[in-house]
Amino acid sequence: MVSRVIPVDNFDLVIFGGTGDLARRKILPGLFRRFLAGQMPAESRVIAAARSDFDDAGYRAEIEAAIQEFGGPESKDKKGLEAFLGQLHYVAVDATGDGGWDQLKSLMRDGVVKAFYFSVGPSLFGALAERLHKHKIADRSSRLVVEKPFGRDLETAKELNATLAEHFAEDQIYRIDHYLGKETVQNLMAVRFANVLFEPLWNSHYIDHIQITVAETVGVGGRGGYYDKSGAMRDMVQNHLMQLLCLIAMEAPNQFEADAVRDEKLKVIRALQPVDYHHIVRGQYDATESSPSYREDVENPRTHTESFVAMKCHIANWRWAGVPFYLRTGKRLKARGSEINVVFKDLGHSIFEGDEARHRNVLTIRLQPNEGIDLQVTIKEPGPGGMRLIDVPLDMTFAQALGDEAEDVTDAYERLIMDVIRGNQTLFMRGDEVEAAWSWTDPIIEGWTARGDVPKHYDTGSAGPEDSLMLMHRDGRRWREIKG
Ligand code: NAP
Repeated sequence: MVSRVIPVDNFDLVIFGGTGDLARRKILPGLFRRFLAGQMPAESRVIAAARSDFDDAGYRAEIEAAIQEFGGPESKDKKGLEAFLGQLHYVAVDATGDGGWDQLKSLMRDGVVKAFYFSVGPSLFGALAERLHKHKIADRSSRLVVEKPFGRDLETAKELNATLAEHFAEDQIYRIDHYLGKETVQNLMAVRFANVLFEPLWNSHYIDHIQITVAETVGVGGRGGYYDKSGAMRDMVQNHLMQLLCLIAMEAPNQFEADAVRDEKLKVIRALQPVDYHHIVRGQYDATESSPSYREDVENPRTHTESFVAMKCHIANWRWAGVPFYLRTGKRLKARGSEINVVFKDLGHSIFEGDEARHRNVLTIRLQPNEGIDLQVTIKEPGPGGMRLIDVPLDMTFAQALGDEAEDVTDAYERLIMDVIRGNQTLFMRGDEVEAAWSWTDPIIEGWTARGDVPKHYDTGSAGPEDSLMLMHRDGRRWREIKG
């Protein structure tokens, strides 16, 4: 069964940073897949802009190679690829100079959706916004896509918001958090708000605790310079993990509409209590015989930046009073996997004898790998021999439930880009949300600096520092294993 593709209007999409890593690995391969799915109208254009010296033919050759490397099985479609490349153009533009802007202007058309993707470092956002305005390339109907990181603390996020606000209104700005573009994350909202089963139980009366884990097996790779100034808290918790927490914890919006959803997420962030520093564990990975330590990776032998963080936090409202949310994320861990586990409470009274009666329902929302949702339920173990209970997953993995249609699970970037073209901001962070998130994380980071906090070491290939396990054990709980 082929999934339904909603066509979009004709567009001119300008990608500043069109020669960069993100454009090559994600944005252009994603657009190519949307093209093949019939979602990119033939009159639409993608215009890449950066300082490097390319003509259209040279740029197309670069992107052909990038799509062959990163585009998945679809890149074998030679005719499709050729047709897609024909819709690409390149303009040499320096964000901080005035050359190239007239040529860019001459390529832009009236009467189509105009979107500008800032796939460049945030220090260039202001210069780009100003030149788009000065050269009259962007107008009130244009859309602006900006990448993470959105600031490194509240102050810088406010500055960035103010810079963009000089030339663009909030309803023109699309702040990307690609976690929100994942199929399962949106499915989480469908599970919560399109079923009668879950919402009545979705509160402190029935939920014991919630775990959110984003585990990576890779180290910092080539991003050491950036990462060491950032750390897991800024790079992952302030954006991705908090966004997931918001979608789990928010009240039902009155409609599935951008500001209604974002208002509810903002209320969650504002209700997050300050975190007791005893409830946070930071870590740094050690070397193995075959892989370097974090400190070697970032070439900074004295760094105290964390490559792992685990914490327990609370949301101060009626729904979640007393329910801990445990968050953890880290690099060079034993398995790669992102998942949310909603762990329900024990039964008040069990009619079944013995330890085997101690079973719990757990709703697991897996973001990667194998996106899907499963619900752990307790049943009788089949066969004779009395009433023995076992836990089994009610598996809602898309591949099983949806067959061929699941194979068309759209990558987060391509979905989000198409939402920009449709003018749908639901899955993008609003400026006040980002600022509220920094207001919560800043005191944690400042506390570490003030106390001279030193991250705990952990073995590459482990589940993180021992203290992270203790964070759970002290509460009589344990992390659910990430199987990868
Ligand atoms: P990158 O590989 O360093 O690419 C930067 C791009 O900016 C290049 O195309 C570069 O092209 C262009 N550029 C630099 N200075 C310029 C100037 N003065 N005027 C015009 N263009 C200029 O970076 P990236 O990894 O693609 O990341 C881009 C943005 O996405 C960053 O904000 C990053 O934090 C964010 N991001 C990246 C990833 C990822 O996986 N890569 C993930 C999440 C977020 P020229 O040198 O040709 O000018």
